[in-house]
Amino acid sequence: MTNATAKLSDIERAIRNVPDFPKPGIQFKDITPVLADAGLFAAAVDLLVDGFKPGSVDAVVGIDARGFIFAAAAAVKLQAGFVPVRKKGKLPYRTHEQEYALEYGTATIAVHVDALKPGSRVLLIDDLLATGGTAAAAVALVEKLGAQILEISFLIELKFLNGRDRLKGQRVRSLVVY
Ligand code: AMP
Repeated sequence: MTNATAKLSDIERAIRNVPDFPKPGIQFKDITPVLADAGLFAAAVDLLVDGFKPGSVDAVVGIDARGFIFAAAAAVKLQAGFVPVRKKGKLPYRTHEQEYALEYGTATIAVHVDALKPGSRVLLIDDLLATGGTAAAAVALVEKLGAQILEISFLIELKFLNGRDRLKGQRVRSLVVY
């Protein structure tokens, strides 16, 4: 077993399943035990950016809120900038907004209009890919700014929800698949 595989199974073991959170029927994947372990947190960030050298990415875009944690660490590691995609109403300056469908109703995420330069090379990171609605909306915002997405990386993928179908044409990486 390679070191990376060993670490990956340790990461998988550390992810805590919390049934019926935030509502009945949802099994929440709690990544806080991964974050609390220095070695696992570092390994998760290493695996999320594996193959990218410092200087090969201009910005790491993180999705509100748990995506920020991994994206910010990845940005420092890659010597890239960090750009937050936030829930509507949180960013102070002018924004582009993108609405997307939830199970019931809609949600909107936003990015500052000047957050990315046209043509800049972007790595997009979130903690978890479920239906793909959030990530697809973030892709639309990054593309509206004229930036180029090199890859979308997730710590966790819930494969049975077919989120990748919403991210066609993108390179998608996930570390732990359920
Ligand atoms: P989706 O738009 O359906 O792909 O949902 C992805 C977003 O919702 C991510 O930002 C996740 O943090 C969050 N999310 C969805 N399902 C779960 C889950 N079972 N456990 C933890 N977070 C989740």
